[in-house]
Order: sequence, then C-alpha cells, then structure tokens
Amino acid sequence: KDTQDRDKDKADRATSDQVLDQRTRMILLQMINRDVLGEVHGAISTGKEANVYGAVAYEADGSRIQRAVKVYKTAILSFKDRERYITGEHRFKSGAEKGNNRKMVKLWAEKEFRNLRRIHAAGIPCPEPIHLKLHVLAMGFLGDRRGWAYPRLRDATIDGDDADQVWHSLYLQLMGVMRRMYQVCRLVHADLSEYNILYNDKKLYIIDVSQSVEHDHPRSLEFLRMDIKNTGDFFRKQGVDTLSDRTIFDFISAPEGAVEEPGMSETLERLYTSRSPTDDTEGGQAQQEVDNEVFRNQYIPQTLEQVYDIEKDAQKIGAGQGDQLVYRNLLADQVVPAKTGEEASSEDEDDEGAALDSDGTDDE
Ligand code: ADP
Ligand code: MG
Repeated sequence: KDTQDRDKDKADRATSDQVLDQRTRMILLQMINRDVLGEVHGAISTGKEANVYGAVAYEADGSRIQRAVKVYKTAILSFKDRERYITGEHRFKSGAEKGNNRKMVKLWAEKEFRNLRRIHAAGIPCPEPIHLKLHVLAMGFLGDRRGWAYPRLRDATIDGDDADQVWHSLYLQLMGVMRRMYQVCRLVHADLSEYNILYNDKKLYIIDVSQSVEHDHPRSLEFLRMDIKNTGDFFRKQGVDTLSDRTIFDFISAPEGAVEEPGMSETLERLYTSRSPTDDTEGGQAQQEVDNEVFRNQYIPQTLEQVYDIEKDAQKIGAGQGDQLVYRNLLADQVVPAKTGEEASSEDEDDEGAALDSDGTDDE
C-alpha cells in the first residue's frame, strides 16, 4: 500500500470512531429532507460495530414519532468475524467480497433491514424497519414516550409477588418467538441472548438481527442450538424451570404443530407435563445438565448428504425411534426411496460427490 492509501485509512478510522463521518451525515441529511426523520439526537448505544441514535420524525399533522437510527461503523475490522454468517447464505452469494469494508458494512445493514422486515411482518415484536440507505438504518423506536429506550432483558427489573410466574411466562414467550421465527420467517437469530432482547411490560422485543441466517444456511442448526443454550442459561439463572435444550430444539424445528399463540405455549406446557416426573427435582436438573451437555456436543448434520447412514436413520423414524435423532425434522421433510440393484450403486456415487462438494464450500 502506498502512503496515500495508508493516510486515507487512518483518516477513515479516525472519523468513524468519532461521532459521525461526512458520508453518514449526508445520509442523515437526506433522510431528513425526505421526512424519514425530523431530527437526530444523541447515542442510545455505542457498540463495536454500530451506534444507535435516538431520533424523531414528524407526521403530516405535526405529531412526533420516535425513531431509532442504527449506524454501522464503516472502518472496522471486526466484521471479519462475521464472514461465517455470510458464507453459504444464498442471498449474499455475490456480495461477500473481502477487502471492501464499506461494501461489507452495507451488506450487514441490508441484511438487518430485510430480516427485520420478515420478523416484523410475522408479527413478532421487534423494531419496525423504516428506511435503509447504505450503512444507515432507520427503524421504529422501542421505548417510552419520554425517549427512554426499553431495557435489555439483562437489565430488566421484574419484581413483585408474581415475579417467578412472569419469568416463566417470558421463557415460554421467547421459545414461541424462536419457533415462529424459524417456521414462519425461516430464520435463526444466531446471536440471541438477554443482550439482544428488550423488555417492557411483560413483553419481549427481538433486536439486532443483522447476523440472522436462513434455514438453509449450512450452519443454521448449529446457531439455533447456540441460541437455545444462551437463552436457556439466562432463564435458568433467573430460577426458571426450563425444558432441556434438546426438547426446545425439537419444539422449534418440528414442522407440525402451532406457529402462533396461544397454541405454542400450550404445546410447551404439554412438554412440561409429559417429561420425566423427576425433571423438576434436583436430581432431574442435574440429569438435564448432563443431557444438555451431550446434546451440545452432538454432531448436527445440516444436509442429507451429511447424514451418515440415511437408510438406517429413516428406518428408525419409521419404527418410531426418530426422537433419538437430532435432525429428525430434517429427515421428516424428505421422501427416502428404497434403493435396489444398480440404481442404488450409481446413486451412492452421486451422494458421495455431493458430500464432497458441500464439504468443499462449507470450509472457510
Ligand atoms: P449492536 O450491534 O451494537 O449490539 P443492537 O442492535 O443490539 O446493536 O443495538 C444496541 C442497543 O441499542 C440495544 O441494546 C438497545 O439498547 C438499543 N437499541 C437498538 N435498537 C433500538 C430500537 N429500535 N429502539 C430502542 N433502542 C434500541
Ligand atoms: Mg446487540
């Protein structure tokens, strides 16, 4: 790199680490000219990858609406980590070019905007996506009238006589949201925790969905398992009697069953009643810890090519033992033809080829 480039890099970094760079100011001005925003206020949050600002828009009748503006930082290196989310995402196949931060950051903002649209359209509480321009995303504000953002679930104070009950119902609510996100939006959040959920009045709001992945992302089930672990850990810390990670994984990924409330909560309640009678005892909890640990270390195949012995597994499902398979819902979607004679051997070759292909593209 020549000196000029290096100086320019430095300047970029300096300006974007500060409040707002020239480019971002221009975008905000444009949004103001187009009445997407009326005024932009101070930062609600300053993060590694983005800052979130409070803002106000004016309706035609002059009334004020609160907005939030997420500004992705354009001069950061930490976006490198995020490549694993984009690799294998068909929506981003053409875009995952390296070495162009600004382009990458624009992709992340776009991804967050599109994911928010889907989640919002499914009626899951989240910020309403309003407007996107390059790395600047305007959305609905989640907070009170005076401009205070709702607390993150991590910081929420839930007290009173019914606190335990509220925590339990929030847990059911969140597991339902995850199922609906999976079944209706076809998305896995992939960074779900008490930090990316806002809380108000017994309701949870999902935020920060730029890294959320499609169903068919090569690692979506792995991310789902991680989301289940992180959210489960948090609720256990609050004293909630949780279902095992495995049970939740099946609940979320099962194609059959309700995808709205109150049906989803009813399904969960049934899962509580039908589980082993010792599960809510101390010994039962310890056993659940062991089960969770096993489940978390289990290999999750993501495609049929990755399934080791598909015929044997299909038979297991046929024999009603499919529950033992982590990926039973993956297999349940497929019709597995019986293989005979020559046909079978040529198909086997094809399978192997496909397995190699998918291995090759998955590796980073
Ligand atoms: P980051 O990538 O920095 O984690 P987030 O999307 O999680 O970005 O937002 C960071 C913080 O900004 C959140 O924890 C929340 O406090 C606040 N925030 C984000 N979006 C909104 C919103 N729509 N309304 C109110 N506050 C928000
Ligand atoms: Mg966040």
